[in-house]
Amino acid sequence: GSGSHTANGSATSERKVTLITSITGPDGSYLTEFLLNKGYEVHGLIRRSSNFNTQRINHIYIDPHNAHKALMKLHYTDLTDASSLNPTRSHITTTGRTHIKYYQAGSSEMFGSTPPPQSEDTPFHLRSPYAASKCVAHWYTVNYREAYVMFACNGILFNHESPRRGENCVTRKITRAVGRIKIGLQNKLFLGNLQASRNCGFAVDYVEAMWMMMQQEKADDYVVATEESHTVEEFLEVAFGYVGLNWKDHVVIDKRYFRPAEVDNLKGDSNKARKVLGWKPRVGFEQLVKMMVDEDIELAKR
Ligand code: GDP
Repeated sequence: GSGSHTANGSATSERKVTLITSITGPDGSYLTEFLLNKGYEVHGLIRRSSNFNTQRINHIYIDPHNAHKALMKLHYTDLTDASSLNPTRSHITTTGRTHIKYYQAGSSEMFGSTPPPQSEDTPFHLRSPYAASKCVAHWYTVNYREAYVMFACNGILFNHESPRRGENCVTRKITRAVGRIKIGLQNKLFLGNLQASRNCGFAVDYVEAMWMMMQQEKADDYVVATEESHTVEEFLEVAFGYVGLNWKDHVVIDKRYFRPAEVDNLKGDSNKARKVLGWKPRVGFEQLVKMMVDEDIELAKR
């Protein structure tokens, strides 16, 4: 058996089990759909909260009272509380010769201010505490692979967008605003640095790369990127232009959104993933922006 994130399957029973620690996020939810389609049993960790935080996976959830065969199972767990993992462990552990694979969700933020293009051999120069913690996790993963011969991969994923992107990220902030401006709910959009440049791929293409890494004979680290980078301004042009608006009529620059240590230019070199995994993104920049705007217009109408 095989899988991604922390995966655990038995060679004899063909039971394919995946444990996703961040199932409620965009990648976790797309990965769940992808793996369910491939016949995996998907377990996800969710944190207790007084508000529902499962909106990205509600459409695939089957109430366990109604469906004995629900293949996605959610567990209330807190990763900082090891004992809360025990019930989850007993749910997913298989008997026999168990083969476990681990996927670490790394980020292009680890490259920070290192000049592009960035590949697996590019040194990290992080620019935020978020990126620092990603670097630590990256090196733990390398160390466990080397020290304990574990199948452990680092996926260094460049920016990937989707209609499920968090509303505070600049791409989603823009497409949500375009939807609301288009139907007359709002007129202005406040932004910071428009010259920052990012890779801009579609999240669904990226979760496939995660899975492909886990199917290799040998665990390794891979950069996943579209090799097409765009500035925030270019994103604005396509998003507003698509609905017949000029972004300059609506965007106001607000100094508060500028960052103390900016990541100026990320452009990934994903030749290794393309060569070794045979990975290739399917959705291009304009198609992606339009898809996000379309969904956010529908959302604004609701
Ligand atoms: P990330 O920095 O790539 O993880 O993603 P973000 O979406 O948070 O930011 C992308 C880039 O957009 C950064 O360089 C920001 O400085 C820039 N940016 C400009 N205006 C905004 C804004 O209003 N909100 C956010 N989040 N980013 C902005």
